[in-house]
Amino acid sequence: MDLLNTLVEKGLRRESPTREEALAVLATSDDDLLDVVAAAGKVRRQWFGRRVKLNYLVNLKSGLCPEDCSYCSQRLGSKADILKYTWLKPDEASQAAAAGIAGGAKRVCLVASGRGPTDRDVERVGRTIEAIKEQNEGVEVCACLGLLSDGQAERLKTAGADAYNHNLNTSEATYGEITKTHTYADRVDTVQKAHAAGLSACSGLIAGMGETDEDLVDVVFALRELDSDSVPVNFLIPFEGTPLAKEWNLTPQRCLRILAMVRFVCPDVEVRIAGGREVHLRSMQPLALNIANSIFLGDYLTSEGQAGQADLDMIADAGFEVEGAGTTTLPAHRADALAAAAGGCGSHAAAGGCGSGAAAGCGSHADAAGGGCGPCGGHAETPAESPATASAASEARTDLVAVRRRGAGTDLAPNA
Ligand code: SF4
Repeated sequence: MDLLNTLVEKGLRRESPTREEALAVLATSDDDLLDVVAAAGKVRRQWFGRRVKLNYLVNLKSGLCPEDCSYCSQRLGSKADILKYTWLKPDEASQAAAAGIAGGAKRVCLVASGRGPTDRDVERVGRTIEAIKEQNEGVEVCACLGLLSDGQAERLKTAGADAYNHNLNTSEATYGEITKTHTYADRVDTVQKAHAAGLSACSGLIAGMGETDEDLVDVVFALRELDSDSVPVNFLIPFEGTPLAKEWNLTPQRCLRILAMVRFVCPDVEVRIAGGREVHLRSMQPLALNIANSIFLGDYLTSEGQAGQADLDMIADAGFEVEGAGTTTLPAHRADALAAAAGGCGSHAAAGGCGSGAAAGCGSHADAAGGGCGPCGGHAETPAESPATASAASEARTDLVAVRRRGAGTDLAPNA
């Protein structure tokens, strides 16, 4: 298939595909799906080998958010029966993080619901980062606290944060249909603040909110432009009690095409399968490891994932290996650019796109489908599928959605 050969060649050169090529990936037929995965796999292996990075979510503050992100179980007015609690103490967060690290995670993602942190919140998270780093040498910490004000990214960096997550979630054109209380531009601004402070930028998207193929391609090209080091791809978990509860638009095949498109557009960045992995990829999860090089271990913010041991078994069975703490995730050209940006804090290289090697980032906050800042939920229209696409119709798998009842904020042990 000429399209796939072209995309592999471009991916190996870190060159951007055209919009038309990205759209064509989303329009491939089921007959071509394994070829698409194999092609994306060549690009994945070029930059990340057979390594899988494990990330572990700690929900520092759950629910009760004043924002109205329609996809989110923690939103204003959400009727979802999720755990609700205020800030974990630094030692409580550190204990939760330790479980994930013991399970093989090399990055801990500290997430808090809300529009954005106060300066006092930033200090509190700073103490949490210090507690985690004191007890777990070499662990990476990513903060995900919402929209940042001036100076907060710098304070997080000083406190030891390695990265900041803030997802763009969906295209600029449709953002206003998903959220009314803040704008797409607000999100871009926070990613740029994180990046300018020398933090590694993590920013991704949520698929399955009723968006078109054009929307998906738009947001992924925007992420390339922002030059995020890691791109979490969330698949909407339509939580009962949220406006998007009926948005069951995804099939495992479509999820694989979306992941492949992201890999081709952002060939040398960490592509992470985020919330909704178990719900939407289901038994196709191991195949997706051929495209993505990163997953969350165990549970999400407000929903439960498969058992941590099942994640590890899946990685081994599929012929991949968990990335060790001593290994640098990013290819050398990106890691060097990030180190240079961090050293010259505030003067990062101009965003040059995921493939360009300049470190930059994109973001919003928290993982999506898990229910925090990050998961999006959408609007109603059915996603546009090419007539050539013969995937089975999506079905509501509410049986696979489990609200988190263990780990942070409970007396039960975390799943890691
Ligand atoms: S995604 Fe974040 S800001 Fe939006 S409603 Fe959820 S917790 Fe609040």
